[in-house]
Parts: sequence; structure tokens; C-alpha cells
Amino acid sequence: MIEKMKNPKVFVPLGLLLLLGLAPFIIPDSEYEQTVLIACMLLAIMASGWNLISGLAGYVSLGHSVYLGIGMYTGAILGQAWGIAPMYLMPVGGLVAAIVAALLGAIVLRARSHSFVIISIAALWTIQLLAQIAKPITGGADGLVIRPPSWAKEFGPTPYFYIFFGILCLTILLARFVMNSRLGAGLVAIRNDEGKAAAIGINTTLYKITAYSLSAIPFGVAGAVYGQYLSFVNPLGAFGILASVTLVLAALSGGRGTLWGPVIGGFIIALANEFATVTSSGASARVFILGIILILVVMFLPAGLLPTVSEKWAKHRNRNVAVKFIDQTSIASSTSRVDTAAIQSRAVIEQIEGKNLLEVHDIRKSFGGIKAVDGVSLGIKRGSITGLIGPNGSGKTTLFNCMTGVYTPDSGSVLLGGEDITGHKVWTRAHGGLGRTFQITRLFRSMTVLDNLVAPLERTSPREMAAGRYSGEEVSRAREVLAFMGLQEFEKQKGSDLSFGQQKLVELAQVLMLRPSIVLLDEPASGINPTLIGKLSDVIRSLNDQGTTFLIVEHNIPLVLSLCTEVHVLSGGRVLTSGTPEEIRNDPQVIEAYLGPDANLEVPVD
Ligand code: ADP
Ligand code: MG
Repeated sequence: MIEKMKNPKVFVPLGLLLLLGLAPFIIPDSEYEQTVLIACMLLAIMASGWNLISGLAGYVSLGHSVYLGIGMYTGAILGQAWGIAPMYLMPVGGLVAAIVAALLGAIVLRARSHSFVIISIAALWTIQLLAQIAKPITGGADGLVIRPPSWAKEFGPTPYFYIFFGILCLTILLARFVMNSRLGAGLVAIRNDEGKAAAIGINTTLYKITAYSLSAIPFGVAGAVYGQYLSFVNPLGAFGILASVTLVLAALSGGRGTLWGPVIGGFIIALANEFATVTSSGASARVFILGIILILVVMFLPAGLLPTVSEKWAKHRNRNVAVKFIDQTSIASSTSRVDTAAIQSRAVIEQIEGKNLLEVHDIRKSFGGIKAVDGVSLGIKRGSITGLIGPNGSGKTTLFNCMTGVYTPDSGSVLLGGEDITGHKVWTRAHGGLGRTFQITRLFRSMTVLDNLVAPLERTSPREMAAGRYSGEEVSRAREVLAFMGLQEFEKQKGSDLSFGQQKLVELAQVLMLRPSIVLLDEPASGINPTLIGKLSDVIRSLNDQGTTFLIVEHNIPLVLSLCTEVHVLSGGRVLTSGTPEEIRNDPQVIEAYLGPDANLEVPVD
């Protein structure tokens, strides 16, 4: 925080905001200017709110102005019923919008991003229709008229100007709070890779609904006063698609996912809108100008204005700074001195008794006609390093996916520490101590290595979600884990800047943040530099010494045979055989089905 304040860049938007607040005093006879600025602020408020679900989590809502309409109607209807001016109902407008969003979110957020876009528009039309039908409450298609307050003539738009200014400031604070919280980190993780986010313990459903509900609040608050400002509310005005599209354009052109981008975009698009209205008479001119802006943004500023400009600026400033090259050997040779508490497995902490830590019973999973897993039963002994080998397509990854909850098996059960977890969600299993990495790396590429490590959650309570991203012991533990892996120098690098092997190590570090009792590794050594393979086996052995159990899928047979105490061989979705590395090495069945007669199975001398 203090570090940030030293950064002169923060003062630019704050200065502009202050200037905006003084506008009614600076500009003489500013009634017209104030109404234009009110339109700008309203669009900035909506774009910032939208940004919470669509910018951070990547779920693009094309019907989000529905919550402005809900705020407008809440203010108008309750204001009339209670005999007060709608603007006093701003908090109620926000609350109603948040509740409707939470309920709607619970339904629509089941859809993945693409269907979500369509459903979000459908929700807007549906609620518009409801407003037309429920005539006794909403006044039907004619809508409701709101009497202007007595001070309206005397002060002009200035009171409204400051109300919208206040809402804008609060919305920016809300956005800032969310972005700096663990919730915000989780949302960005979801945007990067939802399945992976779940695998590291993020309750994606809860996160998305929370973000969706929060994103509706600024709309609802602004809506309550906006209806009064317009002095009427009707279904077409309150639930129009154009407002939704305009606010999306504002957020996209300013820079979605950033704090100030949607605000800047709101001003740019609202001003362009006003320009189109002033210079021509038809709505077609407006659509034309907004369309041109949309094309320009998509072609030249896909990330939005703010991210593009700040990247250019950063490049300009860093042009004389040599890029620091960190080679692989520095990771491999780095000392693994570390506070063992940081990497300690929960199996040791909890001291659960029992023989098998993870068991699967008669697991079957088919895709169409393909029996990917065809009745597999296995037990993974607590404290072991167990190998799972077999030819490509033999069902290893599918079995992992059934164990971790990515797939629900067609039949069979999964037991973790004796507890049946077959129906549990992916993140519940992660919280229960089941960690996994993926065959193809799935690091959150837009996030730094440190952010990748603080994103996993051991618990998902509201307090935990609201806590600062870098708060508590998470950061120090993340640094301990990175040090243990020899990755401390990469802390500030983006996931996308790392080599494949480095990404794989960071993914393992990510999993360790959950203090897993068992880690499933899917081809950890494939595609990575031999120096890093040595490092990887050191890491696995050392974690195993501290109590972590491993199940490893790997084609590097010498590595498997040297690491593992027990090996299972899959073939065609079934267990071909199980045994010690010695037995597997000499099993004629395995040699025929998988290894081949000329396989070099010598364990490399290290
Ligand atoms: P392995 O990891 O051992 O190489 P997989 O578990 O990835 O094997 O695949 C086992 C079989 O299931 C393969 O024939 C593969 O084509 C098929 N399969 C895996 N996942 C899917 C899926 N999502 N949809 C359809 N077929 C799949
Ligand atoms: Mg696989």
C-alpha cells in the first residue's frame, strides 16, 4: 500500500477525480456540462461494476443494465409506497439488485462463459417483459412518473452531480477492495482457467455468484437516484439493451480487469455518445459512432486503452534496463533451506491412522463408446511414492480426473483417508488434502508467480475471501515454498514468461500451498529440461520425507522406477499388474504391453 502510494502514477487518476469533483465550481454556468458529466459518471459506475464479474472473472454479461433498471423500479415503487423521494432508497436499490443478482447468478452462472453471454441478454428481456406485464405494480408499458423534489428548480442538476460523484467514488473503492482481496485473486484465476482454479481449492461457484452479486450493487444504487433524475421509469428505458452494450464498450475501451480502465472508458464513450447526439439528430449516428469505436478498440486496443498505454510507458522507462536472465541451473543448485512448517503435509499435522490414503473401487468412465477407465481398483499407501504407468490412452489422466472430481465416474467410488469423496466437488477435495498437477501446464498465465501461489485457498469463508490478497501468513508461506523449490527469484515474473519446466515446478509449488496429504502428478517430467528433472525428483523425495504421499503418472520409466516404492500398470483402462519397481521391470506382460523388449530401464546414476 505504502509502496503503491509512492508511485506517482496513482496521483494522476486521483487528481482527475478531484478535478471532476470541483467541476461545478470551475466551469461557469455549467448546467449543461454537469448533465453531460452525470452521463459520464453513470456510465463509469456501470462499467466499473460490470468489471467485477466480466473483467475480473471473464464472464461477459451483455445484459447488465438490468440491475440499473431494477434500482430504478425499486426507487420508484417503494418511494411511492412509502411517500419518500427515490434517491433516499439508494441503499435499498443496491440491496435489491444484489439479491436479484445472487438468485439469478445461482442459475445463469452454471453456464460457461459463452452461453452466459446469451443467458445474460435473455435475463434482461425477461425482466423487461415482467415489468410490462406487472401493470398494477410497475405501471406497465407506460411506467411510473416521479415528481421532482422541490429543490430541483433552485439547484439544477448540481445535487445529482454530487450524488453520482459520490457513487462513483464508492464504486471505485469497492472495485479496489475486491481487486486487492483473495476474492479478486480467485476471480482472475477463474478467468485464466476455471478448472485449474477449482483444482487448487477455489470454490468457483461461490466466487462467481459473489462477484456477480457485488457487481450489481453500484447499478442498483445508481438506478434508484437515476429514475428520480429522469423523473420517470418505463420498461424500455430501464431495461434497454443499448445501455448494456454501451457500458460493455466503455469497459472494453478503457481496459477491463483494471481499476481505472472502466472509469476512463465510461467518460470516453459517454462523451462520444453526447457528441453524436449533438452533431446529428438520429439514433443511427450514435450507433454508427459507437460501432466505429468498437471496431477500433477490437483492432488496435484489444486490451483497452489503459493497459496499452501503461505497457508502452513501462517499456519506455525500462528500455535501458537489461532483462535479468535466470537460468535453469540456478534453480537446480539452489539450496532448499526452508522452514519445514511451510511445506508440511496435513497428513503429518493431523496424524490420521490408516493403511491406504487414497483408494478407488471399480472406477468406470466412458466417453461415448470409448471405455477410458474400465473397472480400476487401486490403493495408494500412506507415505508412499506410487507410480502409475501405461501406454498413451490407457486411461491414466481420466483416472486422475475421476479421483480429483473433474469427472464423476459412471460407477465406482473414491475414498480419501477412509472417507467416501465420490460426489465431492473439486475444491472440497483440494481442501481435504488432495492436490494434483496437470499433464499440460495450467499456470495462471496473466498472474505473477507469487499471485499464482497465494490464489489457492485452504478454506473458503467470507472472511477468508475478503482478506487482502497478500495478508496473513500466506505470503510468507508462499515465499518459503518458492525458496524450497528454488524458485524465489521468479516471484514477480508472469506465468507466461516462464519456461515449460519452470511452469511445472511453480504448479507443484501452487499445490503445496494447500498442504496436501497426497499429490497426484500427471507427467511431471515430460517436456522439461534434464537439469530440472533432477531438481524435481529431489523435491518429491524431500516432500515425501516430510510425510506427503505421491501418485505419479510418468513415461520416464527410469525416473518412476527410481522414485517409486510401488507401481501400477494400466492398459486399455484396466490394471494390468501392480508390484515393486523390480517386479514391474521384469514382468513379461509389462514388457510386451508397454515397455518393449529393448527398453533401457537403467536408473540414471545421480
Ligand atoms: P492417458 O492419460 O493414459 O494417456 P487418457 O485418460 O487421457 O489416457 O485417455 C484415455 C482414453 O479416453 C483415450 O482413448 C482418450 O481418447 C479418451 N478420452 C479421454 N478424455 C476424453 C474426453 N474428454 N472425451 C472423449 N474421450 C476422451
Ligand atoms: Mg494423460
